[in-house]
Amino acid sequence: MCPVCKCSLLQSASGFSCINGHQYDRAKYNYVNLLLANQKKSKEPGDSKAMINARHTFLQSGAYEILADRLRTLVKSYLNDLSQTSGASASLLTCHSFNLLDAACGEGYYSAYIKEKLEREYPLTISGVDISKFAITKAAKTYKLNSYAVASTYNLTLETHSQDIVLQVFGPSDAKEIARILKPGGLWLEVMPGESHLEELKAFVYEKSLKHEPRTDEIQGFSNAQIHDLAFDVSLPNTDLRHALLTMTPFLYRISDENKQQLLQRLNKVHAHFTLCLRHSQTQAC
Ligand SMILES: [Zn+2]
Repeated sequence: MCPVCKCSLLQSASGFSCINGHQYDRAKYNYVNLLLANQKKSKEPGDSKAMINARHTFLQSGAYEILADRLRTLVKSYLNDLSQTSGASASLLTCHSFNLLDAACGEGYYSAYIKEKLEREYPLTISGVDISKFAITKAAKTYKLNSYAVASTYNLTLETHSQDIVLQVFGPSDAKEIARILKPGGLWLEVMPGESHLEELKAFVYEKSLKHEPRTDEIQGFSNAQIHDLAFDVSLPNTDLRHALLTMTPFLYRISDENKQQLLQRLNKVHAHFTLCLRHSQTQAC
């Protein structure tokens, strides 16, 4: 959708335009910038290039594959239930593609992983939005078959009731916007840091670290939340991986130089802890 007037965007040779004449160029790596100037709080909002490259290095090492695989399982289970309740046959489903929005997608790892693993059973059309142009550039360069836009998750540029699933890993969002774009009964799968996430790393940054408190309360427009806890240890066998982990987090800006050197030498294992929250949209179709 056009972020200015909310009309549908049509593709043209150079990009996208709406019936009111608002135009958006297609960028070099085949993404579109739909972030309006008045939605920017800084010149280059969102994660920096260094953070995105570090996250790419870390995730491509397989360090969080256990999380990616749990997300795949949850998405598969939802699509399986959906196909059974709709009574659609397996042959019909293989012709049908489900829409998944990766909200605050970063460099696109989790949704691309899910798509690749489920492709044969449940074809997925992936859209990703992130406020960081570095994130979207990396995602669009890496996963060429998905659609990406630089856009705010508080003003989603997708049509109402267009998505089967919204995946949101560690990103900000607006529940009303997610309710708007999900189909009735659609799945919102949110991942938040769990209480003890990266506690060994945080011990190098803070004398007494505060525990994360994941938001798992009920939200209007969604049915009862289901909470899943996922915890595992990640080994960090070399300095490059330790450096990538630190650089992809905001802790990089809070750690002293001395503690950073200590961390790079000594942090050979870290505890990953995630809270996964599943909600289903109650919105009735218009
Ligand atoms: Zn417009």
